[in-house]
Parts: sequence; structure tokens; C-alpha cells
Amino acid sequence: MTLSIPFENSYTRLPDRLFARINPEPVAAPEMLAYNHPLARTLGITGDDDMAALAQVFGGNTLPDGADPIAQLYAGHQFGHWNPQLGDGRAVLLGEVNGFDMQLKGSGRTPFSRNGDGRAWLGPVLREFVVSEAMHALGVPTTRALAAVATGETVQRERGLPGAVLTRIASSHIRVGTFQALAARQDYDGLRALFDHAVARHYPQADGPLAFLEAVIEAQAQLVTKWMSVGFIHGVMNTDNCAISGETIDYGPCAFLDEYHPLAVFSSIDQRGRYAYARQAEIIVWNMAQLATALVPLMPDADVAIADFTKAVHGMAPRLEALWAEALARKIGITAPRKDDFDLGNRLLALMAQDGADFTNTFAALVTGTARDQMTDRDAFEVWAQDWQARLASEDAPEAVMRAANPVLIPRNHRIEEMIAAAVDGDMAPFTHLMQGLAKPYEDRPAFADLRRPPVESERVHRTFCGT
Ligand code: AMP
Ligand code: MG
Repeated sequence: MTLSIPFENSYTRLPDRLFARINPEPVAAPEMLAYNHPLARTLGITGDDDMAALAQVFGGNTLPDGADPIAQLYAGHQFGHWNPQLGDGRAVLLGEVNGFDMQLKGSGRTPFSRNGDGRAWLGPVLREFVVSEAMHALGVPTTRALAAVATGETVQRERGLPGAVLTRIASSHIRVGTFQALAARQDYDGLRALFDHAVARHYPQADGPLAFLEAVIEAQAQLVTKWMSVGFIHGVMNTDNCAISGETIDYGPCAFLDEYHPLAVFSSIDQRGRYAYARQAEIIVWNMAQLATALVPLMPDADVAIADFTKAVHGMAPRLEALWAEALARKIGITAPRKDDFDLGNRLLALMAQDGADFTNTFAALVTGTARDQMTDRDAFEVWAQDWQARLASEDAPEAVMRAANPVLIPRNHRIEEMIAAAVDGDMAPFTHLMQGLAKPYEDRPAFADLRRPPVESERVHRTFCGT
């Protein structure tokens, strides 16, 4: 059977200033490292059993029938600083499949590459593969990973490293920065076309820019709450890495908390902690303010728009707090939180921060009644636990609630690093083990007990890096 991917491209019908037509650059010796068969099925791909042929397609050497490859224009605020032109510098959108974007990442230079080589190395490709699929299994909206192909080429970073291409699937790659690019150019026709496209694709019920803004704000508030409830730190929440769809996008210097600390930062370039764990809730509001600004020119009356948009953006912080209070309550077994329950949850977090308790294992241990073992100051924990038990007496099924809210398996940073080091040496066994374990993160299966272990000091990951 020959490969069939049911492309139906709509982005290329937008004004051509929004993108640049460009083909992926061929690679020397493509080899399939990982292919996501279940995801391929949901996309309606057929005839995909010949891995050598698939590697040619997802390595960028053979264009599949129906593809209409482009690099997308976008701009963005990076660490708060405006950059008027970013764009896909190392990615090519092949087209849309069953409503989803299919993008090759690491596929060579484009008109937006600036000084970059357009390539990716194996590490970030496998990291995004594992972490994005883990996020999906955790129930967090995210882009997905369809394929990872080794290129057989070396990319030059601090040293020569094996090259790879990731095939990423997303509801779309439209970012806050896509709107910003057009607003900044005062290209209001382009902005309107992008807006209509984004509404039709993501929020068809939105009857105008205000309703659209409110829908994106809600989706992003839900998303960031989910990040926080699984201990995820995105690491580089620039407005170009903030998707309109409300999906997590761009797994660069991301990390999961081991021991809990509200201001934990891993990214090597985030020296001031702008994107620290608990700050994500402030930063997403800032990002939504940038989206609001970019949408103003779509409104007939700027003063009315600014008043309405400001109100919508100002409503986000209390919404985030309410969502987080709910999520934190579920993590301690409470479904319909009362006012005092937020305080109860926060008291536990404060104890965890003070003791450096493991975020994932402590919450998972609440279910099994062993959380005390995760703490150093056990007396302080006992005081909290008495209040907690008293509160749980009026809950119906706290164990089930906690099991559903507290994963036992996350892609721990040191296991990701170990997996990458093995893959560079040609050993994909740790990758397979991680993928199998993380496919069911809420199940405590003995075969994956090793993935629950926090890092020992020598394994600890202190710094993560941008995925280039
Ligand atoms: P990121 O940090 O992945 O969000 O990327 C920020 C910007 O840098 C985007 O415009 C990317 O396309 C671009 N970029 C990152 N790595 C490369 C690379 N190796 N070659 C060309 N452009 C790149
Ligand atoms: Mg990016």
C-alpha cells in the first residue's frame, strides 16, 4: 500500500505575506527512530507500514502527495523584549491533516532562519517526543509527536551531534506572536484574515475579537492550571511560544519539578526567573495582554476595545486563582472546595517547600497514606494531616479524586537526560521504557516503579537548554 495522508490545507489560502513557500531540505540518510502509530490512525494516515519510505517523508526527502509546504511568519516578545520578526526558522508546515497541522521541525533553513542552521539535534527531538506525549497522557492539552527521524548528518552545536527531525502535530501553530507580527506591521487586512481563520478553526462560537480574546484567555487559564497541577515548568513562555489553541507548544528548556519550590527555574537562559514555576500564572496574563493589544485594530472603536479588552485581561488573574484553588483541592481529595480549602492546600505546599519534598511523590503518597515519609518535619506534617483528615470526612470519594489528580509518573528530568545520552549511543531502550511507562501516568505499575525515583544528587538536572 502506498502512503496516503489526507491533506486539506487552509493556511496557504491566507494572504501570502503570512508565510513563505519553502520545501524541507533533504537529509543524508534518514532513519525512523520512533513513529506514533495510534496518532497516525487518528489523523487518517494509511499505507504507513514501510518505515524506510516513511523516514524519507518525515526526514524531509520526499514530499507526500497533497503537502503544500510553508514556513509561517510570526513575531513575539522574548523575555519581555519585542522581536518584530521570528517565524519558522527551522520548521516547515507540510499542511493540515484532519484539522491538525503537520509540521517538520529541524527540516532545514527557511527565509526566517536568520543565523540559524535550520536543524535540530537528536536530544531536543526525542525530549519533545517523550514530554509532549507524556503531557497528552497526563491530560494536558499539547502538540503531539508523530515521528522522529535521524538524519544521518551531524549538526554543529558546542560539539558535533547527531541530527534529527521531529514531526509535530498541532491543532494549529497560530501563536500570540502571529497576531503581533501583523498588528506591528499595521497590516490590518492580514490581521483580519488571520483572525477569521483562527476563529473558524478554534473558536467558531466567538462572534468578534472580544469573544475570541475571552475564549483564548479561558483556554490558556485552563492550560496553565494543568501545568501547575502536574509540576510542569514551560521554561520559555515567550509570546511566540503561546498558542491560540490553548495547547502547550515548544518543549525547549521545559522541566518537571522534582522537589517542590514555587520559584523553581531550570532554563539556562532564564536568569531572572521570569518563567519560574509559580510565575507562570502571572506571565500568561501578560501574554494575553499582548494578544489583546494586537486585536485592538480589528475593532471599530479603539477606546471601547481597550476598555473591554482590559476588563477581560484583568479578569484572568482571579479566574486563574479560582482554577488553581480547584485543582489544588482535587490534589488533596476535595471536589467542591470551600473557602478554607485553598488555605489547607497552600499549607501543605508551604511544608513541602520547606522540606524540599518531591512534588509528584508527595501528592501520590497522600492516596496511599504514606506522605509523612516524604517529609522531613513530620510533626508539622502531622498537624496538617489532622486538619486534612477532618476535612476529608465530609468528602465522598477522596481517594478516587486524588488518584485522578495526582500522577505517579512524570517525565523526570534526569530520566530524559539519561534517555538522550543512550539514544546518542544508539540505544533506544530507555526511550521505549519511558514511552511505555508515561503512556499511563496515573497507574502504579511495578514494571515502571524505577521511573518514580527522584534523582540522586549526581543525577540531578540543574539546567535545561533551548531546543535548538
Ligand atoms: P524557540 O526558542 O524554539 O522558540 O525558537 C525561537 C526562534 O528561533 C524561532 O523563530 C525559531 O524558528 C528560531 N530558531 C531556533 N533554532 C533555530 C535553528 N537551529 N535554525 C534557525 N532558526 C532557529
Ligand atoms: Mg518557539
